[in-house]
Amino acid sequence: MSRALHVPAEEITPSLDLDLVVAGGGSAGFAAALTGARRGLRTLLVEEMPFLGGMSTGGAVGTYCGFYLRRRDGELEPIVGGLPLEIAQTLRARGSAYGPIPFKTTAVLPYVPFATKLLLEELVRAEPRLTVWLHAKASRAIVEGTTLAGVVIETRAGRRAVRAAAFVDATGDAALAREAGAGTRRGAEIQYPSMMFTMQNVRLDEAMPKLAAFASLVEEGFAKEGLPRRGGNLIPTGRPGEVLVALSRISLDGRPVDGADPEELTYGEMEGRVQAVRLADFLKRRMPGFAEAYLADTAPRLGVRETRTVEGETTLTEDDVLGLRKFEDGIGRCAWPVERHIAGGETQWKLLEPETWYTIPLGALVAKGVDNLFVAGRCLSAVGGGFASARVIGPCMLAGQAVAVAAEQVVRAGARARSVDVDRVREDLGRLGVPL
Ligand SMILES: Cc1cc2nc3c(=O)[nH]c(=O)nc-3n(C[C@H](O)[C@H](O)[C@H](O)COP(=O)(O)OP(=O)(O)OC[C@H]3O[C@@H](n4cnc5c(N)ncnc54)[C@H](O)[C@@H]3O)c2cc1C
Repeated sequence: MSRALHVPAEEITPSLDLDLVVAGGGSAGFAAALTGARRGLRTLLVEEMPFLGGMSTGGAVGTYCGFYLRRRDGELEPIVGGLPLEIAQTLRARGSAYGPIPFKTTAVLPYVPFATKLLLEELVRAEPRLTVWLHAKASRAIVEGTTLAGVVIETRAGRRAVRAAAFVDATGDAALAREAGAGTRRGAEIQYPSMMFTMQNVRLDEAMPKLAAFASLVEEGFAKEGLPRRGGNLIPTGRPGEVLVALSRISLDGRPVDGADPEELTYGEMEGRVQAVRLADFLKRRMPGFAEAYLADTAPRLGVRETRTVEGETTLTEDDVLGLRKFEDGIGRCAWPVERHIAGGETQWKLLEPETWYTIPLGALVAKGVDNLFVAGRCLSAVGGGFASARVIGPCMLAGQAVAVAAEQVVRAGARARSVDVDRVREDLGRLGVPL
């Protein structure tokens, strides 16, 4: 073991004094920051990538899940309201999303990741109370007693610090909560990551009628050619000849690559691109309509499903999901199934009946032990099947929107995150059009 290095203490004058700081500009963090700023909070959104959207753009996951409910008569209707619905409807109106398309017992909305980046940027730039720092990483939490007083941020201009009354950890990895000393957990079995990729020049007129055969082709490829998954999805983006491919799965020594470990993440990124080349070759050889197609690019970053979650005041479980629990502090509905990407190339599904849902509790968005720290998105307090359902984009955006509304009470009335007036939060969300 080499000798320890001494990291000198520093005193930094905060460059901004804010109401709300949101770490992580994925679907959840974007929703939190935009909602907070729209409601009058001076807000900073800190994102380490050069664009917003997290996995929805950087991971190019390609469909919005958790936005629609399937009724018993087969009709599809939105299950989210407020900002998530606004995003879905705007993308549709611009021809950058289509559907909803029925999927299992709910539905998905395929969207163009590039168009999503542009829309999120347009919305944050239109909001004068919102400052966005891209290429900026929230690295340290400054805690005074049980209050998070400020955050240290590594920027392209060096280290900065900011003060705020309330904070949201939307890093996907619970990075800020961990730094702030809140409890975090790693699932007993984390889900496998995947590298999404785009193929262009696909003959969709040939490919689409053969989609039913795709499942058996992949199953055969898994058995005979060692493909990493037994099933997957081809997602036409809506642009001519373009398909997003969900077929990869990255493992190391037979277990999932850990997206929160620097060496494993590096391996995963590189191995993901190797896998994409191999899978594109498989599609060209085997899938009708793909013979002249080419691999245009992989997603900008590896698609990481699960790393760490925060220990919250409430923890969402599989029983809550499958038991369709309606929490008293519910901040939005979710009908997405339990979806686990597990060993053996399998994806395990536990479906909810059509026209049924559970609710996401605000308590799962409050970090235990820190007075003014909320959490939103895939690092919410959830375990097992609770996590495996609530991790999709619809509930992530609902959570971001809700914590911004709750944070208003911390900022304006000095409330603690764990003791905000839940009825008022729900009333405010109702006014935003969120079905509760
Ligand atoms: C391969 C794959 C396919 C999927 N398919 C679908 C699908 O089809 N539909 C669906 O709805 N969901 C899908 N999901 C799940 C869904 O995409 C994610 O769970 C969801 O997007 C998470 O949103 P988030 O905002 O919580 O986190 P993320 O999208 O991960 O965003 C977190 C953001 O925080 C930033 N960040 C992290 N640490 C810091 C820091 N310290 N400082 C500053 N910034 C930081 C990251 O760069 C990132 O932008 C899929 C996931 C994967 C991996």
